[in-house]
Amino acid sequence: MNSNQKSTKSLYDIFFDVCIIGGGASGLAAAISVMEKNPTLSVCIIEKKDEIGKKILATGNGRCNITNSSCTELELVKAFLYNSGIVLEEEEEGRIYPKSGQAASVVELLKWKAKKLNVAMFTNCHVFRIMKNEEEGFDVHIDCANEKVFIPCTKVLLSCGGKSGPQFGTTGDGYGMVRALGHTVSKIHPVLMPIECEGIKASLKGIRAKGKVALLKEEQIIAEEFGEIQFTEDGLSGICMFNLSRYIKLDENSDVTLSGGFRQYSIEIDFLPQMEENEVIEFLKERRFFMASMPAELYLASIVNMRLGEEIMEEVLNNKNCTIGNITYEGIEEIAMLLKSSRFVVTGAKGWKEAQCTGGGILLDEINLETMESKLAKGLYVAGELLDYDGPCGGFNLHHAWLTGIKAGRSIAKAMAQNKVMGE
Ligand SMILES: Cc1cc2nc3c(=O)[nH]c(=O)nc-3n(C[C@H](O)[C@H](O)[C@H](O)COP(=O)(O)OP(=O)(O)OC[C@H]3O[C@@H](n4cnc5c(N)ncnc54)[C@H](O)[C@@H]3O)c2cc1C
Repeated sequence: MNSNQKSTKSLYDIFFDVCIIGGGASGLAAAISVMEKNPTLSVCIIEKKDEIGKKILATGNGRCNITNSSCTELELVKAFLYNSGIVLEEEEEGRIYPKSGQAASVVELLKWKAKKLNVAMFTNCHVFRIMKNEEEGFDVHIDCANEKVFIPCTKVLLSCGGKSGPQFGTTGDGYGMVRALGHTVSKIHPVLMPIECEGIKASLKGIRAKGKVALLKEEQIIAEEFGEIQFTEDGLSGICMFNLSRYIKLDENSDVTLSGGFRQYSIEIDFLPQMEENEVIEFLKERRFFMASMPAELYLASIVNMRLGEEIMEEVLNNKNCTIGNITYEGIEEIAMLLKSSRFVVTGAKGWKEAQCTGGGILLDEINLETMESKLAKGLYVAGELLDYDGPCGGFNLHHAWLTGIKAGRSIAKAMAQNKVMGE
């Protein structure tokens, strides 16, 4: 066990006013916010991994897409980050990053601030149970290097994340703990991940192309996105695919098999969303006229990714060596169809390890969303990905973690001040 303070004492002898379970984004925001409001309180973070903030380090490909300019209560989060020494820079689509482009700088600044405010941080400590105690507080039970100990506290914050990215410590431990305290957890599923599809030829792997993508369930469009599409060895990736993955939900209670459940979905790609299909046909006809003597494989060059264009031409033409002038009218129609509506059946989705977020979680109407306190268990607070919220890519999930952490921290400090006045 490592701690920046109080580590010499056995955990058996320690009492904390506030125990924060999970040292990720929401836990750090909460710990700092409690101590900023009331530095006389004793607050600890209990973290399962050997370091605080491991998942934050992996966010935004190591750049940390920290929030988004279209998020609600943006000023509150920006002020918290600014006061922690984090300088922000906005990029396209409102994505906000630390100016350095380094997630590590965010973690170091937050850890430093928490330390300066005397937050005790215990790492390599796995919380496995929270129980109400006789003092109207909680006992937090911990497995610390195979030794079972508990910490009594007055308020407890569960900020131990969801189930996505288990390699960063988030293995869904919080769901069982809140259920034991009376809460309901809606069905959870991995979201923001690549989608596995049938019919992706090996030769397409590595191609990146721009376009409009639609997710269809039984022929009905349920979500659409614009952006870069990446072809992988078994499917499609890229931010737009990650966002579409939020809508792939398997109905556990239906008779459909797992693979049948996925196959109800398909992805349709429009590589030329600016043009109608008839316009594409006219454009291709004109192009055939003045490029007639050129090799057919160059027909789509400079319109779409060159390798993608060659793959489309190979699929449509039997004769690899023909010229553009040899392409028939039916061939042009087929090319236009592949450019406007290439269809891939969904066969699966990457699981928890590749998912960036958890869909489902603790029901929001069981939580006071202003204070983040449980409506069912007084003194219990919840923040971050554990809650039934998931946002698209772009900084929305970290924003949710900072915001709910700040709110929880501030309201815990306020409630502790009221407790003290009442106890006097
Ligand atoms: C690869 C990747 C990239 C991402 N990129 C972005 C991005 O750029 N922008 C964005 O907005 N979102 C991003 N996300 C999502 C975002 O990181 C999370 O939604 C956010 O970190 C959730 O915050 P949290 O505080 O709820 O949980 P976390 O930050 O996951 O922290 C939870 C902590 O609790 C600890 N813990 C778990 N169980 C226990 C236990 N039993 N006892 C003690 N400790 C425990 C964990 O080890 C972990 O440190 C990304 C996610 C991943 C996986």
